[in-house]
Amino acid sequence: MEAVRKIELNNRQERILEIVKDNGPITGEQIAEKLSLTRATLRPDLAILTMAGYLDARPRVGYFYTGKSGKQLLAEKVMKLTVKQYQSIPVVVKESSSVYDAICTMFLEDVGTLFVVDESSSLVGILSRKDLLRASLGKQVLETVPVNIIMTRMPNLTICYKDDLIIDVAKKLIEKQIDALPVVKSSDGTSYEVVGRITKTNITKALVDLANDE
Ligand code: ADP
Repeated sequence: MEAVRKIELNNRQERILEIVKDNGPITGEQIAEKLSLTRATLRPDLAILTMAGYLDARPRVGYFYTGKSGKQLLAEKVMKLTVKQYQSIPVVVKESSSVYDAICTMFLEDVGTLFVVDESSSLVGILSRKDLLRASLGKQVLETVPVNIIMTRMPNLTICYKDDLIIDVAKKLIEKQIDALPVVKSSDGTSYEVVGRITKTNITKALVDLANDE
């Protein structure tokens, strides 16, 4: 199993932070003196504290405390994650497709949500697993029922754009109790072209990247 890099600080790093908080800006040499250690011994700790964003270093001035807590630094990282970094390829079906074909597409493409488009490739609806299951419970012949009578349709669709923040998408998924959002672009503000898909799996990937500090 791959080890997750911890942002937890060791005792010496905590002490360095305290020293810089109280005395900064302060040179590496001076920090070393206060700890009765050599500059070389401290180098890896200072590198970690600087890379993690706790300290900043200015040439000829020394180290100073950025004033940010681990929580704040994590929040800053979260606020940088955007949809375009994590989106997947969308899987679409035409609104005239049958429920039977949509079920086949869902299996073949291995996705849990399908986006439904009209003749001009504009987004008109969404099909989830349960939409298709529900339709399968009835007595209808699935080959003849078009998806546009069972889908969730515009204007009730929750959508997002490639420059939106992952955290805002995550909030929408929770609030609407859904699994996926289409990533869209619109040239006229009324019709939407589907350019991507963002799901709970993508959000999970973002979470793992944060833990790995990527
Ligand atoms: P499941 O049906 O497997 O629980 P969801 O929770 O994603 O999957 O879907 C629940 C309902 O919400 C379905 O009827 C589906 O059509 C609808 N839905 C799914 N995604 C969206 C979305 N982005 N915007 C609006 N409705 C959606």
